[in-house]
Amino acid sequence: MTTLPYHAGPRLALPTPTTARAAPVAGRSPLWAVLGASAWMATVGNLALWRELAALGQLQGLRGLLLGLGLAGIVMALTTALASLLAWHRTLKPALALLLLVTAASLHFMLAYRIVIDPSMLVNVLQTDAHEAADLLSARLLATLALAGGLPVLLLWRLPLHHGGAGRQALRNLGLLLGSLAMALALLLALFQPLASLMRNHKALRYQMSPLNSVWALGSVAAQPLHGGAGVLQPLGRDAQLGPSHAAGRKPPLLVLVLGETGRSGNFGLNGYDRDTTPALARLDVASLRNVWSCGTSTAASVPCMFSHLGREAYGAREHDTENLLDVLQHAGLAVLWIDNQSGCKGVCERVPHVSTSAGTDPMLCPDGSCQDMVMLQGLEQRIAALPAERRARGVVVVMHQMGSHGPAYSKRSPPQAKRFLPECTSAQLQDCSPQALVNAYDNSIAYTDQFLAATVGWLQRQTEASTAMVYLGDHGESLGENNLYLHGLPYAVAPDVQKRVPWITWLSADWQRRSGVHTACLRQQADVRRSHDDWFHSVLGLLDVHTSVYRPEHDIYAACAAG
Ligand SMILES: [Zn+2]
Repeated sequence: MTTLPYHAGPRLALPTPTTARAAPVAGRSPLWAVLGASAWMATVGNLALWRELAALGQLQGLRGLLLGLGLAGIVMALTTALASLLAWHRTLKPALALLLLVTAASLHFMLAYRIVIDPSMLVNVLQTDAHEAADLLSARLLATLALAGGLPVLLLWRLPLHHGGAGRQALRNLGLLLGSLAMALALLLALFQPLASLMRNHKALRYQMSPLNSVWALGSVAAQPLHGGAGVLQPLGRDAQLGPSHAAGRKPPLLVLVLGETGRSGNFGLNGYDRDTTPALARLDVASLRNVWSCGTSTAASVPCMFSHLGREAYGAREHDTENLLDVLQHAGLAVLWIDNQSGCKGVCERVPHVSTSAGTDPMLCPDGSCQDMVMLQGLEQRIAALPAERRARGVVVVMHQMGSHGPAYSKRSPPQAKRFLPECTSAQLQDCSPQALVNAYDNSIAYTDQFLAATVGWLQRQTEASTAMVYLGDHGESLGENNLYLHGLPYAVAPDVQKRVPWITWLSADWQRRSGVHTACLRQQADVRRSHDDWFHSVLGLLDVHTSVYRPEHDIYAACAAG
């Protein structure tokens, strides 16, 4: 009889009568599975990284070849080290399969949109709803998943493995861990000089090494509650009171805050774009700020930060979660309502009345599962009437969270009759469209936002019982193929300006201008002053004349005009 190295002799000798299965054939060592899967992920799974390095001219000549091979070796060794922690009898195949599939999915999105995987991108993925996911589905995604993920998973699943006893598994996994870490360290030391300068000059590369990027992002998101951002919610602005402009006998304020989605400041005609994407707003008496910078480059990063009193840097370093702008408005006695036509308010609206319109059934406004933004104006009077009467008497703040220009399906963000720039890209595979068709589809979504904002102002002008105003502020910008970058969500430090510059548009009724002393003409003179999301919290408090110790006038963009 031939003896195979990993023959499970004793078990073969004692087949239990109830198992109909054939006796297991001798399997391969799990080492093969780990090394094979790691090598696959380091090479095929990182095609986006290799493409990036090639584009940077880093893979030329012998030096380039050695650098590439060394980096692949480091990724493979670290992936092996990771897998060694999971290389147990019951866990190895599921864990490797998961890593392979995550790597394949990341590969698709990094190749298609040149995004990278960091903690804030992972939060975006975890908060994606069914509609957003459907927009991203494509034949190419399925093909990449099948070839780069499904194929190796199939091979892995069919590979018979023999693990041996628990002691042997532990010993082998420990050896694998130490060996792979030693290998990674050796390669790192050998390539330290070129690698260090490469990573310093191209910071985004570190978020492109699969599957390490996804695992690191997951770990850092999971660890978030341990080092801040959680625990007991801290109160904020409990001393908030309405100021003298709310004197009895005056009309109560009705303020609509439109939280924009993926609005690129530079694509607004109002901001000097050479295409007139905003004719309806241009006919209204509005002030548009052209030099406003976002807190993050994604909805999940920007929205909670915008509504926080802390500002970008302090928000990132916060120890606890704190109540936000909407809570403070509520503390002041105002009625607050959040209307969401997107994937949720990212926790901001938890303690105020909120409603979602994104699952509407209106055949005109909600043709294919998601709804166009005009749906938020439907039945708005009734929604406001349902808020507590004693609060409504003091004033109402409605936040409308737009679908806006959410990509990649820009063409779905404007109804057929609103399309002014043709032909437009209708594919989620943005790089398959001509640059002009892509910009056309995006600009159509801005032109629709223009109509939506003008319609909102029109609705406010009909609310004669209140003193009315509207402020629109975008959450982040977007890349439309510049430098082959698409969508948004790059780490803030390396994201291009188009992902960080956002529109901020203010419309104040004549009555509001009188009572606040803030005149649109004055605001227009400040169009080019550098502003940021840090100013949103304090500006809304200032505009509403809400007095609280957390208000900072230097962050109130309206304060200078009010004082004048
Ligand atoms: Zn967004």
